[in-house]
Amino acid sequence: MNLNPFTPFASYLRPYRWEITVGLLLLLGVQTATMTVPMILKWAIDAAGASIAEEPFDYYTGDIKGDLALYAGGLAVLGLVQWLLSFGMRFYLSSMARLVERDVRRAYVQHLLELPLGFFHQWQVGDLMARATSDVEAIQRFMHHAFRMTLTGLLTFLLSLVLMSMIDWQLALLSLAPMPLMALMTRWVGGMVRVGYRQVQEQFAAIVTQIQENLSGIRVVKAFALGADQRKKFACLNEDYVVKNRHLINIRSLFFPFTFLINGLSMLVILWLGGVRVIEGSLSLGAFVAFNAYLLRMGRPMMFLGRIVDEYQRAVASLRRIEAILHERPQIDDGGDDGGVIRGEIEFRDLYFSYDGQEVLRGVNVKIPAGGTLAVVGRVGSGKTTLARLLPRLIEAGVGQVLIDGVPIEQIPLKKLRAAIGYVPQDTFLFSDTIRENIALGMADEVVEEAVKAAQLKTDLGTFPAGFETVVGERGVTLSGGQKQRTALARAIARDPVILILDDALASVDTRTEEEILKALRREMAARTTILIAHRISTVKDADQIIVLDEGAVAERGTHEELVAQDGMYADMYRRQHLAEELGEL
Ligand code: ADP
Repeated sequence: MNLNPFTPFASYLRPYRWEITVGLLLLLGVQTATMTVPMILKWAIDAAGASIAEEPFDYYTGDIKGDLALYAGGLAVLGLVQWLLSFGMRFYLSSMARLVERDVRRAYVQHLLELPLGFFHQWQVGDLMARATSDVEAIQRFMHHAFRMTLTGLLTFLLSLVLMSMIDWQLALLSLAPMPLMALMTRWVGGMVRVGYRQVQEQFAAIVTQIQENLSGIRVVKAFALGADQRKKFACLNEDYVVKNRHLINIRSLFFPFTFLINGLSMLVILWLGGVRVIEGSLSLGAFVAFNAYLLRMGRPMMFLGRIVDEYQRAVASLRRIEAILHERPQIDDGGDDGGVIRGEIEFRDLYFSYDGQEVLRGVNVKIPAGGTLAVVGRVGSGKTTLARLLPRLIEAGVGQVLIDGVPIEQIPLKKLRAAIGYVPQDTFLFSDTIRENIALGMADEVVEEAVKAAQLKTDLGTFPAGFETVVGERGVTLSGGQKQRTALARAIARDPVILILDDALASVDTRTEEEILKALRREMAARTTILIAHRISTVKDADQIIVLDEGAVAERGTHEELVAQDGMYADMYRRQHLAEELGEL
């Protein structure tokens, strides 16, 4: 069994060994001062006792009043020293705890950002949030108390024992008698605390997840009047949290007061046997008082021990939860950069893809020359988005099935690959920031202006209260669906990517705006390889090449005219949309 409670945290503590050393030295000073108090008390009481005794103790021969004044002054000075040292000690050790907290959280978040998309499909946001907040906090709390309490406890215990032995070693030994009981109890309870606390944290994560999902999906909750249902579900989770916490409280409540019992037992023995010695005259009254003062002090480390065990178990459980994420493999960055420029020729070569065994793409073979435009149409669920996500490696197919400029994308460094691709997803995410920042994301202002023009967002900007500097809500609630899509489009264009993927990105804009965007984009598209996923024929009809996906396979391919002539699914779609348009015009 490893008795050093700091081992699991070693790598986080190492950078702060100086802070810790200084803090501990100061703590040593505080403890020395504290432990001197009962000794002074002993001298003072014995001095006073000698003055009122009929026969002054033969071992006391000083100037009583003068000495008493000295002792009182000494106590005051000690108080001052304790105060100052204690301030310094807390300053160093508490700052260290906050720095460790910062480091753990930073490591955690940095790692999260490097994990592949697949990871985020498996884990719930609320759970990940709980780890970044509540678990990191538990580690901080342990760091904050641990050094102080461990060393204070250890010193107090040992010094008390030494000083007690100096007064009466037999009594000192006797006072240790109940200790084994304490050790047993600590081991037994420690394990239970860890298990109980892990359950509490898991429950907490479930609560955060539920809150987060309710808030993110508040529109669905409202629109489908799910309020009552969700409230009930939440109440259950919340109630369970209390139950699990109560279980933990019970464990701790049994344990903490146990230290009183242990200390009480020691007291019982000492008061009895020590009292007898005072009566017999083999122990001075001052020594007896001092002995008891030390014994009381020895009780505190035991209570500390209880808290340390408790906080340690929590911190370790929390650390494990954080490490579980840190052990997830980050996205591997592959192959060195050959320094070449990506031209943008894309090839899907005999491409198969499955999600958890469910085949979604079946043998797709398509080649898009650099600068060409491929349009993809097909029913919902036919695999269009999956095809788009494979290119920036948001999901991964087998090696060699997706190639750019004839190179399997797995061999292109991920950063370079993604910099070459502007991907506009179906539903975009806007940060709680200005529109400018949402588009720029670090790019220069001029490119942003150009991108805004191309995305036909210019006129919209005029209608916003602060134009470019308008802050959008957490999920861009102040923008219409079309405006959001155009913002996302501008974001993609601003990065001047060689490859542009529009995944149903114009679905929320009206046909006229769409036409204008496409007209403006045509210039953009001429220089780029473009993949255009759409439902409207009007969006795709000018593409160099159109494929129709059906259940993951290419069912038809050709230009608009060729496909209409083929009289298959595409022609059918075209006729229906054409009819709907004409009806709409009537
Ligand atoms: P489309 O874009 O044509 O609507 P998708 O590529 O989104 O089609 O989806 C194709 C199929 O893959 C659908 O049956 C869908 O349910 C499934 N699918 C999509 N994303 C996932 C995912 N992350 N996990 C499991 N199945 C998925």
